[in-house]
Amino acid sequence: MTQSEQLFQQARQVIPGGVNSPVRAFRAVGGNPVFIKSAKGAYLHDEDGNRYIELINSWGPMILGHAHELVEKAVSDAIQHSFSFGAPTRREVEMAELIVSMVPSIEKVRMVNSGTEATMSAIRVARGFTGRDKIIKFEGCYHGHGDSFLIAAGSGAVTMGVPDSPGVTKGVAQDTLTAPYNDLEAVRRLAEANKGQIAAIILEAVAGNMGLVLPAEGFIEGLRALCDAEGIVLIFDEVMTGFRLSASGFQGITNVKPDLTTLGKIIGGGMPVGAYGGRDDIMNCVSPAGPVYQAGTLSGNPIAMAAGYAMLSHLKDHPEVYTTLEATGTRLEAGLRAANAKAGKHYTINRIGSMYTLFFNEGPVTDFETAKASDLKLFGAYFQAMLKRGIYLAPSQFESLFLSTALTPEHVDAILAAHEQSLAEIL
Ligand code: PLP
Repeated sequence: MTQSEQLFQQARQVIPGGVNSPVRAFRAVGGNPVFIKSAKGAYLHDEDGNRYIELINSWGPMILGHAHELVEKAVSDAIQHSFSFGAPTRREVEMAELIVSMVPSIEKVRMVNSGTEATMSAIRVARGFTGRDKIIKFEGCYHGHGDSFLIAAGSGAVTMGVPDSPGVTKGVAQDTLTAPYNDLEAVRRLAEANKGQIAAIILEAVAGNMGLVLPAEGFIEGLRALCDAEGIVLIFDEVMTGFRLSASGFQGITNVKPDLTTLGKIIGGGMPVGAYGGRDDIMNCVSPAGPVYQAGTLSGNPIAMAAGYAMLSHLKDHPEVYTTLEATGTRLEAGLRAANAKAGKHYTINRIGSMYTLFFNEGPVTDFETAKASDLKLFGAYFQAMLKRGIYLAPSQFESLFLSTALTPEHVDAILAAHEQSLAEIL
């Protein structure tokens, strides 16, 4: 029995399903999850001494690769001053100033501890601001595990077969309206049928949780216009895309600005951090500036702020990070396409910058339905074939992969060699 098998057996006795987040259990791909011992740069090392080239990067945060010295130093310096005060600190002011300087639509920001907290709080403030109850979300988008979002949810929820989770009350569920991603007409119809009742439209402007799906031309612009016309708060959930697609996130590469933005992942440099922010008049509704309550014992935690500040200031000062990531992504995509063509397959590859998903169908993959049409059995076989060859992919089709600056062209070539061999093995 391997160490990972032994640990998984122990874990199942004391942790539901043996893991602290469902997709880690490898249910969708079979086999025993790999228990990680350490990581450095582009590599993960497991409890059995195996080394993997890493394409998950903790589901996004480790954009500079693992244990980057800048973040390491910031954390070890911060630890000298104790771990938590539950009181205001200089660092959290500097962190808020940095975020406001990097994300132009954010005028005020509140720090929380996860992406889930950020999205839950953002819709609460949108409801408080508008005095309306309903929200619109998109099928296959995932906004964390808040009750209002576990309706037609992507990511681990769809992987586990529970896009509509038991435990969410009918009362809550009826206030979440859903539309197919990229279907502007469906959103217009919902807005018309629920006129004056919709507080917010929330979306992953680039969707990463049904696998990567890009917004169709005019989709985001159309949502902005609709929100303006109907007094609806437009929320970009940039938990994945924030600081990843550019130093200003997705909104840095489009002309559309949201009213509120939710952030997570990279913002904490690997520590548990989230944030929500946006228009001054909306954010001034948040307590104690206004009546909408939201709080947190560990919010703005000094160690987490130190890690996040080091990460974000590096990204702000080094725009070449994004050109490097684009070059890595281009090389990888070209190689994957060439290998697929050689195998006589025209699988869909959706990519933007350092995010991509390979779907096992011809596509195009433009929404939840077309994403779900991928051959999931083949995906599972591919995942295992790649793992055996030392490449660690997300253990679900309904995820984006994330590149880091630690990946060299040699790493990419190793991934491509494994890809070609894996296709030969499974097809
Ligand atoms: N929003 C998006 C777009 C996400 O991808 C995620 C997590 O993957 C979340 C929200 C929830 O963040 P967290 O897992 O930090 O609660």
